Order: sequence, then C-alpha cells, then structure tokens
Amino acid sequence: MAKNNEHIILEIYDLFFQEYGYQNWWPADSAFEVIVGAILTQSCSWHNVSLALNNLKKDNLLDPKKILNMKIDKFESLIKPSGYYKQKAKKIISFLKYFEIYDFDIDNIKKNTIEKVREELLNIWGIGEESADSILSYAFDKPMLVVDTYTKRFTYRLSLTDVDIKYSDLQKYLMDILPHDNEYYKDFHAQIVYHSKISCKKKPKCESCILRINNLCNYNI
Ligand code: SF4
Repeated sequence: MAKNNEHIILEIYDLFFQEYGYQNWWPADSAFEVIVGAILTQSCSWHNVSLALNNLKKDNLLDPKKILNMKIDKFESLIKPSGYYKQKAKKIISFLKYFEIYDFDIDNIKKNTIEKVREELLNIWGIGEESADSILSYAFDKPMLVVDTYTKRFTYRLSLTDVDIKYSDLQKYLMDILPHDNEYYKDFHAQIVYHSKISCKKKPKCESCILRINNLCNYNI
C-alpha cells in the first residue's frame, strides 16, 4: 500500500468530518433495532426500512421474544415495506434462534472474540459479510469496518482500488490505513454513505463535490 494513499484516505475522512459533521450512526434506539435494521436494509432504501421498523415499534413488537412468538404471516406483514419480506422474516427468525442460545442478551455474545462472533454470524442463514459487519460494529461495538457498494465505487473513482475488488480485500485495505477504533470505523462508513448519496452518486456530481474542490479526486466521468 502506497504511503500516499494512506494520507489521502485520512485527509478525506478529516474533510468529511469537517464538512458533514459526525454522522452519529447507526440511527436506532437499541442494539436489537440495529440488528433487525441491518437485515431489513439488504436491497432496500433506508426510508422503507424505517417504515417496517416503525410498524414493529408502534405496537411495541420490536422485541426478540415477541417476534419469535408471533405468527409468521403477521411478522411478514409488519416488515413488508422493506421488500423481500418473506425471506427477510426467515433471516430475522434465523438470527433469533442464534440469539436465543445467548439468552437474548447481547452482552453474552460480546464476551466472545470478534473472530468467533463474526464466524457465528456468517453461519446464520441470510447473513452475509456486510450484514455481519454492520451488526458487529454498530450493535456489538466490536472494531469492524463495514464496506459496501458505495465504498467500492468511491475508492475505485479515487483510483485507490480496482473496480472488482473483493469485499474482504477492500475492508482489509481500509482497516490497515484507518486507526483501529470502532468509533472511527462507524463514522468513516457513515461518511462514505452520506457523501455517496449527495455527491458521489451513480452519476456523480463532481462539479460541486468537496473532494474535487479540494483537489482530492480527479475522476473523469
Ligand atoms: S469528484 Fe466525483 S467521482 Fe470524485 S468523489 Fe467527488 S463526486 Fe465522486
């Protein structure tokens, strides 16, 4: 890894923090809400995830035992706004069966090493790397950086990574540069998502982008 790239990544984060402020992710009232949100957000906008979460919250049903005791069709109808609701209901139930082993107590899971928890999460049906790392970082407060399609597109456009870089390689590349601090990882990911939504979109708005203005990105469309 070129030293130069390390400086660019850290400088970009500082600029994001200065311009956009601390992102305060993940938006949730509880760690359990983060977990359910991390599964519901697969292939779904956050707006629609919020609708599904609010359906659960308004009847005080965002609770692991209540969900496990609920009829599956009722649960599916509550999370319907998040799309793929039948699959997502099964995924959440799969997680809850794992959670039950730990007496539905996140602190019991957190006593394990990050490697063990990540492996266990990845063994749950329907939980892939991005969901597992979101849960590790934002719900379990384990030091893990979430990367996603926004991160991949962003680092590619900055000429830092290849277009087809693997999830694990991109994650390692960035984690080797960033300070080993979950607060930093949490906000770094949130800043990239925010920047990708307002500037570095599918069709990027380079002319008004703060990275272009500060000579940090020369990407040509
Ligand atoms: S200059 Fe364009 S490509 Fe580069 S980060 Fe900004 S929006 Fe994305």
